[in-house]
Amino acid sequence: MIRWKLIKDTANKLLLDAGITAPPVAIEALVKGQGVSLTSAPGDDHITGFLLRTPGSEPVIGFNSNHLAVRQRFIVAHELGHLLLHAKSGLHVDRAFATSEGQKIEERIDEDEIEANRFAAEILMPEEFLRADLAGLGPLDAEHNDTIAALAERYRVSKQAMTIRLTSVELIRM
Ligand SMILES: [Zn+2]
Repeated sequence: MIRWKLIKDTANKLLLDAGITAPPVAIEALVKGQGVSLTSAPGDDHITGFLLRTPGSEPVIGFNSNHLAVRQRFIVAHELGHLLLHAKSGLHVDRAFATSEGQKIEERIDEDEIEANRFAAEILMPEEFLRADLAGLGPLDAEHNDTIAALAERYRVSKQAMTIRLTSVELIRM
């Protein structure tokens, strides 16, 4: 079962403790504030990032520096989600698979991946921030393409991630 409320509460507490009240969320600073060592390297396209937990040393989050900055931010947030939500030690590597359309998608096979993706969305695009930004506009639809693009830029996420997020908090009409 996906722990939607725990995920949201965990992300919101982190933002509150760090005094973050507006986008873009400084995800690297947040991660370092959790005692995590952050590293990056150019890697194969299908590797997005990893989380390494070794007993006795600080956790390490790594991301592929070949990917776009918005993607890097999402994967760092995703790995932080694994760290805070999933008590597994050792190395966890995240990969992207090519779909039949040739598009890259994040791995969504098991519940841990769904939870980590949801955590990343909660921390990078807090519902409260989005509602404040869209106050008075009402739910968006396809005609608001420019608004969605502007929001994606403001939150430093991909337009695809912003569209998914707005849909899940019912700020977009499908
Ligand atoms: Zn993952």
